[in-house]
Formats: sequence, C-alpha cells, structure tokens
Amino acid sequence: ATSLMWFRTDLRVFDNEALSKACAAGRPVVALFVIAKGEWKHHDFAPIKVDFVLRNLRTLAQSLAKLNIPLVVRTADAVKDVRPVVLDVVSQIGAKKVFWNKELEIDESRRDARIAEDLTAAGVTVSVNNSQMVVLPDLVFTKDRSPYTVYTPYKNCWISVVDASPNLLDLIPVPDPVAAALPEIVANYAKEHSEIPDALDEFPMPDELRKRAHAEWPAGERVAHERLVTFLEQRGARYKDERDFPAKPSTSRLSTYQASGVISSKLCVRLAWEANHKRLATGQPGLVHWISEVVWREFYRYILVKFPRVCMNKPFKLETDRVAWSYDKEKFESWCEGKTGYPIVDAAMRQLNTTGWMHNRLRMIAASFLTKDLLIDWRWGEKYFMQNLIDGDFASNNGGWQWTASTGTDSQPYFRIFNPLLQSEKFDPEGVLIREFVPELAGLSNDVIHEPSRKLSSKQLARIGYPEPMVDHGAARNKCIAEFKRASGK
Ligand code: FAD
Repeated sequence: ATSLMWFRTDLRVFDNEALSKACAAGRPVVALFVIAKGEWKHHDFAPIKVDFVLRNLRTLAQSLAKLNIPLVVRTADAVKDVRPVVLDVVSQIGAKKVFWNKELEIDESRRDARIAEDLTAAGVTVSVNNSQMVVLPDLVFTKDRSPYTVYTPYKNCWISVVDASPNLLDLIPVPDPVAAALPEIVANYAKEHSEIPDALDEFPMPDELRKRAHAEWPAGERVAHERLVTFLEQRGARYKDERDFPAKPSTSRLSTYQASGVISSKLCVRLAWEANHKRLATGQPGLVHWISEVVWREFYRYILVKFPRVCMNKPFKLETDRVAWSYDKEKFESWCEGKTGYPIVDAAMRQLNTTGWMHNRLRMIAASFLTKDLLIDWRWGEKYFMQNLIDGDFASNNGGWQWTASTGTDSQPYFRIFNPLLQSEKFDPEGVLIREFVPELAGLSNDVIHEPSRKLSSKQLARIGYPEPMVDHGAARNKCIAEFKRASGK
C-alpha cells in the first residue's frame, strides 16, 4: 500500500507538516497536485498567479524527486471534478493513507470534508494537518473565550501565546528520502501523469507581463528562503521607517511566495524572531513591525475561520450591508484602468495591471478611492484585485478590502477616508512612482505632479493624454459620510 500527499496551497518541502507525516508513515509516497481550473476560475485566480503556481510545481517536482516521491499532476475542469479526480488517484495508486494541509476557506473546507468522508468510507485513513498559520485560531480568544474582532488585542494575545510556547515556532525539516520503493505499476502510473503544462488556455496572459513576472518572481522555495534572509539582514532594521513609501524597495515582497505556500509564515516569523534575539514584541523596531505585519496575515485568516460569513460575500460588519453602493460600470472601468485623474490612484492601478503586484500603501489608497470616493461596492474591487494579483490571497484580500471600505475589522469609525492628494504628497513626495507608472505625467515638476489639474488647463491635460479628476474629493467625502450615516440609521 502507498501513501498519498495531496499538495494545494503548500508548494514546498520544508516546514510542511502533511508531507513530513506522509514520509514518516513508512510506506512509499506519491504526491498529487490537481490543476483545479474550474475552482481557480470560480475563485478569480489571476493568470499571473496560475503561471506562478505552474512554475513552482516544476521546482517542487524536482525537490520531491530527491525524496523518491513522484509528483502526479491531474486536471479538474469544473469545480465538481476535484473530488472524483482525487478519489480516482487514490484508487489508481492503491493509497491507504492520504495526507494534506488544511485550507481554511469555506468552499475548500467543504470540499475536503466530503472527500475525507468518501475516503474514510472506503477504508482510507485521512490525515489533515496545519501549514497555513503559525498559531491556530482556537488558541487565541478573549477573557470570556469569544473571538477577537480587532487586530491589536488579537496580536497581543497571539504574541503571548507564542511567548508561552515558543515551540510553536519549531520548523519541520525537509523529510529524509522515502526508503520504500513504489510498486512498478504505481511508478508507471506516476510517470504517465507527470506532465506540468507551461500555460493554460483558460488563463491567458500577455507576454510582457509573463516576462516581467518570471524576472521579478523566480520560482522555488530556495528563492523565497534567500529573499527572506536577505530582507531581514539588509532591510529589516529600516522596515518600520520605510515600509510606507512605495517607491522604496523596502518591503520583503514575500506575499507572492506565501500566497502559494512556497514559504511558510512560520519560517518568516521564526527567522525574524531569531534575528530579533528571540523576541516578538520588543527589540529592533523594524523587525518587531515586520513580525506584526505577518500577524495581520494570521488575523485575517482567523477572521475567516471565526466569521465564515466573510467567505460568503457578506460584510464583517453586517449593518454595513445597508450602504447603497454604486454599480457604475463606466466609473469602475476608469478606476481599473488607472484613469481616475488622481495620479497616485492611477499609478497604483497601473502598477497592478503591468506587474501583477501592488504596494500595501497603494492598495489602501486605491481601495479607499473606489469605495469612499466612488462609493462603489468593495466586492467589485476585491474581485478585480484577485483577478490580477500574483499574491492574490482570499483572507488578506478580503480583509484588506473590508478594512478599507469600513465594512470590516477597522476599529476606526467609517470616516477614515484617505485623501489621495495628501497621501500622494506624503508617501511619494517626488512622484517617483507616479512617473514610473503614469509616464504621461513624467515631465511635470514635483509641485504639480500630485494634482496636475490644479495647474494645467483642460486643454493642456488633453494634450498630454491625462484625464481630469473624475470626482471632487471633498464633495465625494461628504457624500460618503452622509451615506454611511444614513445606512447606520444615525
Ligand atoms: P511586507 O511589508 O514585507 O510584509 C510581510 C508579510 O506580512 C507580507 O508578505 C504579508 O504576508 C503580510 N502582510 C503585510 N501587510 C499585510 C496586510 N495589510 N494584511 C495582511 N497581511 C499583510 N496581501 C496578500 O498577500 N494577498 C492579497 O490578495 C492582498 N490583498 C490586499 C488588498 C487590500 C485592499 C489591502 C489593503 C491589502 C492587501 N494585502 C494582500 C496585504 C498587503 O498589501 C500585502 O500582503 C503586502 O503588500 C505584500 O507585500 P510584502 O510581501 O512586501 O509585505
């Protein structure tokens, strides 16, 4: 009998609980990855993310080969096909044990529960493991044992849990090669199903974007590990001061690797903790702040486990469902294309469109503009981000959108509305980012570039091909506040 390791959002061999258990089970191991086209479409996976997954599958297959584990790659065209495909592989290879790491989102949990039920009924043992979070949601709760709804108290509790049990940061080494040989028939089956496609027709991607992505985001957990080490050594100490300036290469850019599970959050926290002399909340301010950002990631996962309604298109704050959001397609498209007439918003959107990634400060500015200045439903923005981000991750994306739209876990009341002009002057003072992504403004001086319409006439703007502001921020702000007030019945 063999064991099956089903890989999903955990494309790594280091610090992978399910893989390590599968290898320790004393039987030959086959690995499986399902190219879940239907699921990926349904969940708005960006082509650039799909491409990243396929590239990482190749490096994963090589690492697994060194452990004597073949990687079987199968395709599921529709959402409903994943289950029969997994069951078929289990039966083809005669697996008696199946291992995977838990996925937290509601559709994935339901899918896994059904598969586990079928396998158990067929006499196959299922081992469900944790690889997505450092601290499991059930370990973090308030004094009256209810879940946290605000980040800072959650973080404080999270830190106290890890401080009390530092073994939570123990990393799982790469398993030893599996000694037991595969029966020939299974080895042949694995060989027949080992092909990893270069691209998928259902997820087309411009060549330019592909080239850029391959250069900016090389595949493999070795690359991710090296990036983490380099970041902590060279930029970790400055992170707190520089992280908000999108033109500076001051953040780790590890989210892409985390979103596909090429690196674990535990490894990120562990190495930062070591660099900070085994402290999480005190010590070097840059490292402390960086750890707290990884805790944001944990927090949004926690929220989706404790409040699964956020997985069902619902706002975290249910009462905000009464806000009369706009569904103006034309305005939405101007935002998508980076043609709002607000240079920092346009730079943000064009960074997303041309690179598949966006700096966190810009994500907040762009999301605030869509939801507060245009009053467009945050769910439209959430979807567009997901469809274009290489690091698209349901929990962080939904959490970030809801936080910015004031439907989520932001502890401030709804009047947190970013002023795009002030944000631009503060965080991109020399217009470096604007010049890079909005080239028609590149020739403007620093005092004009943030708000070209103040100095340039309509004619001049038309000549350089840049739109006038699509709304007046002050008026839009008042309208937004009035609408939130109305919706809350105040
Ligand atoms: P660093 O600054 O180096 O931070 C280290 C790690 O901490 C990141 O890799 C990430 O895992 C985590 N982190 C940092 N900031 C946040 C945050 N605000 N929320 C949750 N985790 C965080 N992140 C995604 O990974 N996928 C998404 O789809 C996504 N969508 C977002 C949408 C909106 C509207 C907003 C406001 C934020 C979103 N974020 C998302 C969070 C954040 O913008 C990115 O994680 C961050 O920009 C990644 O860059 P980095 O790896 O250089 O981060």
